[in-house]
Amino acid sequence: MRLIILGPPGAGKGTQAERLCATHGIPHVSTGDIFRANIKDETPLGKQVKDILDAGGYVTDEITNQIVADRLAQPDAADGFLLDGYPRTMAQVDALDALLARDGHHVDGVLRLMVDDDELVARLTERAKTSGRVDDSEQVIRERQEIYNKETHPLAQTYAERGLLHELDGMGEVDEVTRRIDETLDQLVSRTA
Ligand code: ADP
Repeated sequence: MRLIILGPPGAGKGTQAERLCATHGIPHVSTGDIFRANIKDETPLGKQVKDILDAGGYVTDEITNQIVADRLAQPDAADGFLLDGYPRTMAQVDALDALLARDGHHVDGVLRLMVDDDELVARLTERAKTSGRVDDSEQVIRERQEIYNKETHPLAQTYAERGLLHELDGMGEVDEVTRRIDETLDQLVSRTA
């Protein structure tokens, strides 16, 4: 299955994506993780995107689309994957569609984690204590939320119009959210099978 997990910063995408991918044996493709690994290793890409990530902005569509195209061309992603943090703009939605269509594929489902604004801020502030992420400071969190609301929030509507959107309650215990995701996926599997 070719899946996307969507939700604002702090919604728990990364945590749930890890679990889901381990259970279902599909690769977890997180653009944020790819960028951070490159920054850590001081690669040319890392140097190019570091300031953008630190400030909470979006890396250009051109760079991001290329990163994802390269990653999805790897053999382990041939039969399915979970995209976390991508697409984030309409241009990325279009690029992903085109990329998948080249091989006769398409997105099978989009899981959207719904979490209250207050809870998001609380989680990110808590994460800041241990994550070591420069972009988990209060000011940058605000910046990330703003850009998310403007650029990424509208994507849910796009996927809803295609009948691909599955909205899930992302509040409560991590295990509880995982259970909701698994239920949704079971329905999805039986529908696509
Ligand atoms: P979060 O969802 O908590 O904001 P991510 O790990 O998904 O964290 O992303 C971290 C940062 O990486 C983003 O703030 C952005 O700078 C960059 N990034 C990740 N994915 C994309 C994308 N699809 N397009 C542009 N920039 C991205």
